[in-house]
Amino acid sequence: MTMLVLFLIVASMNASKITGEQSLRDNSLVNFGEIRETMQAQIDMGPRIPGSEASLLFKDWILDKTSDTWEVNMQNFTYLEMELRNYYITKIGADIPEILFGAHYDSRAIANLDPNPFLTDNPVPGANDGASGVSAILEMMTLIPEGLEEKVGFILFDGEDQGSGGMDSWEWIVGSNYFADNMSEEQVNNTQVFVLFDMIADDELRLPYETNGNRTYIDEIWNTGIDLGYDDIFVIEAGPNLIDDHIPFKRLGIPSVDIIDFTYPEWHTTNDDMDHIDPVSVAIVVDTVLVWLTDRYEFTLSDGTQPTSENTPVHLEFYLFSFLLLGGARKSLDRKTRVI
Ligand SMILES: [Zn+2]
Repeated sequence: MTMLVLFLIVASMNASKITGEQSLRDNSLVNFGEIRETMQAQIDMGPRIPGSEASLLFKDWILDKTSDTWEVNMQNFTYLEMELRNYYITKIGADIPEILFGAHYDSRAIANLDPNPFLTDNPVPGANDGASGVSAILEMMTLIPEGLEEKVGFILFDGEDQGSGGMDSWEWIVGSNYFADNMSEEQVNNTQVFVLFDMIADDELRLPYETNGNRTYIDEIWNTGIDLGYDDIFVIEAGPNLIDDHIPFKRLGIPSVDIIDFTYPEWHTTNDDMDHIDPVSVAIVVDTVLVWLTDRYEFTLSDGTQPTSENTPVHLEFYLFSFLLLGGARKSLDRKTRVI
């Protein structure tokens, strides 16, 4: 009986860490359950086709999600007589950020690659191709430590995925083109790197690097992933060469990286849904990018264990002290510091 109970406890602990083939390292702060929820919430809105009712639902949702610490600037613009909207999110009161993260939130209007010819005019649900990148950014926003928040900005792009007949006469990457075209000279000069999350929820995630990306930053991020034990995922080998939302930033001379697994079998089909993704994949990417980011600024991410650095920022020491004092009741503490 005891053995059985023990077995069940261990089994359920494993189940909380691992779904599909991949697992998140033990000390990660990233909450893949939360990632699953925010992905599901987007799917529940319906396809986030530009100009659609679901796209408006997304607006209300994202404003609600980001109201506490972050300021959401809506960038409204018109393309082929349709109202589109990018969201530019920065710490309230912060200056121009140094590092930008992006993802597209729209989903493709037609599943033109669906194996069933009767479904090719149906919309793509966009669990991987759309929702995964947005959920990565929401999780990043939750976990970036205080003091680093003002260094980063997030952009959620509309109109990425409607080229090649997705919507009539549309081009690809409409939202990111508009954003980049309207950056001030100061913004461009201040941006050290742009990092894009796209299609990172494949349940067999594998990330050869996208070859338009900047090799210096690719090596930094990929080596961080390898150091964390994700060496089956962050493979330093040349992958695809893509038109994606990083291209307009690269065109401005900003070093840019596209984190994407382009071998997703359900790409641009009606099966790009919650049954064909793994939120752990997204969590692994967020874990890696967070560690890369905090290493870069010599911040220590709290993982619930003792800090190793003597230069641990004061707020983390406070957090760890409070954590011990309150026995893990973190609800009353900074909501951005969370342990799964
Ligand atoms: Zn797409």
